[in-house]
Amino acid sequence: MSTTADQHIAYDRLYIGGGWVEPTGGERITIVSPTTEEVIGVVPDGTEADIDAAVAAARRAFDARDGWAAWEPEARNEILERFATAMDERAEESARRTSTQNGMPISIARQLEGPFPGMLVRYYAGLAAAQDREEVRPGLLGGTTRVRRTPIGVVGAIVPWNFPQAITFLKLAPLLAAGCTVVLKPSPETVLDAYTIAEAAEAAGVPEGVINIVQGGREVGAYLVQHPGVDKVAFTGSTEAGRKIGEVCGRLLRPVTLELGGKSAAIVLDDADLAGNMEALFGSMLINNGQTCWLNSRILAPRSRYDDVVETLAGLANGVTIGDPLLDTTQIGPMVSARQRDRVEGYIARGKADGARVVAGGGRPDRDTGFFVQPTVFADVAPDAVIAREEIFGPVLSVIPYDTEDEAIAISNSSEFGLGGTVWTQDQERGLAVARRVQTGTIGINHYVNDPAAPFGGNKASGLGRELGPEGMTAFQALQTIYVDPPQLG
Ligand code: NAD
Repeated sequence: MSTTADQHIAYDRLYIGGGWVEPTGGERITIVSPTTEEVIGVVPDGTEADIDAAVAAARRAFDARDGWAAWEPEARNEILERFATAMDERAEESARRTSTQNGMPISIARQLEGPFPGMLVRYYAGLAAAQDREEVRPGLLGGTTRVRRTPIGVVGAIVPWNFPQAITFLKLAPLLAAGCTVVLKPSPETVLDAYTIAEAAEAAGVPEGVINIVQGGREVGAYLVQHPGVDKVAFTGSTEAGRKIGEVCGRLLRPVTLELGGKSAAIVLDDADLAGNMEALFGSMLINNGQTCWLNSRILAPRSRYDDVVETLAGLANGVTIGDPLLDTTQIGPMVSARQRDRVEGYIARGKADGARVVAGGGRPDRDTGFFVQPTVFADVAPDAVIAREEIFGPVLSVIPYDTEDEAIAISNSSEFGLGGTVWTQDQERGLAVARRVQTGTIGINHYVNDPAAPFGGNKASGLGRELGPEGMTAFQALQTIYVDPPQLG
């Protein structure tokens, strides 16, 4: 069996304009395994000049009279089918690279990171083919108009490290199907899996300049956001970075989609069957080592069942298998970096200092290497405590007591965020009634799984706009109205 230590991957080029080009700068990004703390890869660190070249290539591919934007969806879809197949062929490699770089347990990477790209490309290719691109609409004044859906242009796509493949394809799949071209900037923590996208694009014969990838940090990301050749920005990442990007796009009047942070609530009702839903609890509260934007990290428990809820969650956290993310049996891997582990440990220390009661975890597991923290459950957390308000982005849960359903909903809605959430109850109608009152972009009943056919995104500080579903493609389309037959006025 191979383990994390077996991999070392090096690239010395960037994928721009359909070819492998020399980077303009000499800097390199070095990737360190969060499990072994050894160097596992090295790639070029892109520069502003590389972004210029990538935007120019994307512009040419978009603007050319016979360019990608001008193709019929059926022609684009032939290429997209080949691209989906090429991603499928690389699914295991993408999943392994993700786990190796960011610590995601391979069982999760195989479910989400591996298959999502091909599935989403096929889904959006199908939607684009079925869409009425030029609707003939009878005018209210008696004439006729044509309402066209056109691709919005060159997209600057910036993604984080936590689900690098899935999040990239929430953007790539709809924008390509809509006829846009893209400059993708992956997160420096997860650059290696992004190369599988370039290799798949090349193998599938995606026309030159349609997909361009520049590895780099936040400075080149910021440069891409304000680049005059970019028509739309699609960003997933922290709320802090999202605010800066939103400001720039506001000034430029540039369309932007922002998928940001969260602090979602799990509302446990008094009839909930927690013991019968342990897998779903894990999936919504601890998945991907807690490094998940919609993580249900505030657990609102009825006072009548408070001890039972605390005990169940402590059992959940204490029962997980922590280890090498490349092992099939691992449920919790390391934090992505030493910095992220320090951040999570800082919040654990803060929770203790503020008087919350640690009922599981609270420290590091006994391992020689790796940026691991124990899944940690705090009880007796005040709704306004720092650990209950701020996004920790690690396996740290806060259990908050409530007396009435109204109070639970009020606590849930008191967050500055509004991205995910769950309601736990044996009565679906009761769960639906509560879910409808929660101010959040998405919410699940007795489970939380993003279904690709439905829109995903946040309210308040969790972002602007939606991805996934048909709505995820309209974000990459502009509307053009052509007045065809004049109305008979007077
Ligand atoms: P981050 O904001 O630090 O970085 C995300 C990406 O943006 C990286 O590629 C980074 O290089 C780039 N970047 C950072 N600052 C930038 C700037 N000013 N201009 C342009 N690019 C910039 O976030 P992260 O630490 O990589 O990811 C974790 C965060 O992402 C968490 O807050 C999490 O909640 C959020 N997230 C949100 C979603 C969602 O769909 N809502 C999904 C996953 C992660």
